[in-house]
Amino acid sequence: ELGNAIRKGLKNREFVVFMQPKCNLNTGKIVGMEALARWKKTDGAIVLPGDFIPYMEETGLITDLDVYMWEEVCRELRSVMDDGKEMLLPVSVNVSIADVYALDVPEVFRTLAERYGVPPEYLEVEITESIYARDTERINDMVRQLRKDGVTVLMDDFGSGYSSLLALKRFPFDLVKIDRGFVSGMLQDKTQAAFVPALTSLVHNVGRRVCLEGVETMEEYEAVQKLGIEVLQGYYFGKPVPAEVFEDKYLNSICGGVRSNRNRA
Ligand code: C2E
Ligand code: MG
Ligand code: MG
Repeated sequence: ELGNAIRKGLKNREFVVFMQPKCNLNTGKIVGMEALARWKKTDGAIVLPGDFIPYMEETGLITDLDVYMWEEVCRELRSVMDDGKEMLLPVSVNVSIADVYALDVPEVFRTLAERYGVPPEYLEVEITESIYARDTERINDMVRQLRKDGVTVLMDDFGSGYSSLLALKRFPFDLVKIDRGFVSGMLQDKTQAAFVPALTSLVHNVGRRVCLEGVETMEEYEAVQKLGIEVLQGYYFGKPVPAEVFEDKYLNSICGGVRSNRNRA
């Protein structure tokens, strides 16, 4: 039943793009956003990824969703550019392991960037770390090719899988997203407080930038402020909202100055 409903939903464009802001640690300014899928049923109910992504990953349907999401994001970027807005920000999209086997991922991004006339530096891909344990060479080639084409590559959920450290050692990401499990609880005791600073300096020591996910409170924000983290993401800065709401709520109010901050994060 779920499979049929998902297939129908894909056909009827019931899946929609939500955007969550990513911010600069020092200024709190928005430096980018992550595109996250939501399933908007015909009755208006919004279904979260936890209820459809695992099934889609099992069945390979995830690749249809991902390509659809990547295209929607390119379309959205195109429309922002057509509006003549100056503050185009990079958008990250998620890439699943199934995509790596089903597609030539860099080729798909090249095609979409060309079709929509989107400069590749506005595209970022987040690859969850659990995939790095697999076919090392294939993944390495993909990461290198994407970066060569100008697309920024992030390792998602760092620290949550069993191969985190080897993956950090092996693959040339631009940024590493520390899993939000390390932020939650960090204010509770010394043991939990140890991880974010230690993981941040490890990532910095191997020459990569850090994005910290899951910052929910002002106390957490203050606790990480001295760590020199490049990008922060979390409910404290904003929850995921529909792309058009994102444009209204954030982009219009930060017009100017943002474009030049883009690459410095
Ligand atoms: P992710 O890529 O690690 O995305 C971050 C998740 O953390 C999002 O959940 C976001 O809403 C949530 N989050 C962000 N800040 C906070 C915070 O401060 N506190 C808490 N508690 N949560 C926060 P979401 O949107 O439910 O997505 C869950 C996962 O589903 C994503 O994790 C990603 O792995 C997957 N996903 C979502 N959309 C797509 C997609 O289009 N394609 C693929 N392949 N995976 C997707
Ligand atoms: Mg992600
Ligand atoms: Mg993540």
